[in-house]
Amino acid sequence: METLEVAIIGTGPAGLTAAIYTARADLKPVIFEGAAPGGQLTLTTEVDNFPGFPDGIMGPELMANMKKQALRFNANFITSSIEDVDLSKTPFVLRDQNQKKYQAKTIIISTGASAKFLGLPGETKLIGHGLSTCATCDGFFYKDKIVHVVGGGDTAMEDATFLTKFAKKVYIVHRRDTLKASKPMQDRAMNNSKIEFLFNSAVTEILEDKQGVTGIKVTNLKTQEIETRPTHGLFYAIGHNPNTAFLKNQLDMDDQGFLKTINGPETNINGVFACGDVQDSYYRQAITAAGSGCQAAIKVERFLEDQKT
Ligand SMILES: Cc1cc2nc3c(=O)[nH]c(=O)nc-3n(C[C@H](O)[C@H](O)[C@H](O)COP(=O)(O)OP(=O)(O)OC[C@H]3O[C@@H](n4cnc5c(N)ncnc54)[C@H](O)[C@@H]3O)c2cc1C
Repeated sequence: METLEVAIIGTGPAGLTAAIYTARADLKPVIFEGAAPGGQLTLTTEVDNFPGFPDGIMGPELMANMKKQALRFNANFITSSIEDVDLSKTPFVLRDQNQKKYQAKTIIISTGASAKFLGLPGETKLIGHGLSTCATCDGFFYKDKIVHVVGGGDTAMEDATFLTKFAKKVYIVHRRDTLKASKPMQDRAMNNSKIEFLFNSAVTEILEDKQGVTGIKVTNLKTQEIETRPTHGLFYAIGHNPNTAFLKNQLDMDDQGFLKTINGPETNINGVFACGDVQDSYYRQAITAAGSGCQAAIKVERFLEDQKT
């Protein structure tokens, strides 16, 4: 079996940036696209905050451009998911969903993280049309609008507070009567006159028209009363699942499953690097993912150079 210089797992902004850099460095990367080629940005419409596009760009188009750029330098894409890796010895071994095995001297893991959804009908098609899992990304589109944020942790408080810069009213819908968020984050949200809380409440239906979200049905979990609430935007802030199940017991992770890295993209195993949302539960932006993909690629190059001496 041929031993690859570098295998890249995942084709969001992190993996595709790593692909562009390693391909230009003539490392002939093989990139596994997984079940969601292009990653999370293919789920959205307008991306307004990726530098270089003064008029914004549609998420799927941005990702298609990144792939095209990698292909220009002969990056080799394989449309399958990696199901298993053996990192206990080198060369590392990867097995994909077709049971095909690959050997690689280095691996870049850029498998991202998936936002948690409530599981209500219509969610997939409403993403980017009134439903969002990223307040930082989409808040700007809700100037003077009414929005609802679902969640009770730090992210929900932070998202709600951030959204008050744009929206005229922000409601936080939370299942319990107490918040999980830290005290300072709670205080900041509670002292904001634009924010109101709906405790003991759950969104149980999303209402829509041709344009997207128009309202929600909120069930009071104590009384079972159902209220119909108009809203322009619905923001989920109930956490993310990093795509790391196939790496369990092989790499250091935090208690949520995000990969632990040091010095940028280094994992606890020499020659295995991680970049993007899979190792970043804080920034979760396309540009930070792309930046860390570049770091991972440069580390791979230097690691391989060092191996030769
Ligand atoms: C709806 C939405 C809108 C957003 N809007 C913006 C925005 O406007 N601006 C912004 O900066 N950010 C935005 N974000 C956040 C941004 O999309 C993410 O921060 C970014 O995509 C993370 O990139 P990534 O490369 O780390 O991973 P991802 O984009 O999550 O890509 C992960 C990749 O890994 C692959 N993969 C997963 N598991 C495997 C496996 N086992 N084998 C092989 N491949 C695998 C997937 O198929 C996918 O290709 C948005 C996110 C969402 C969900």
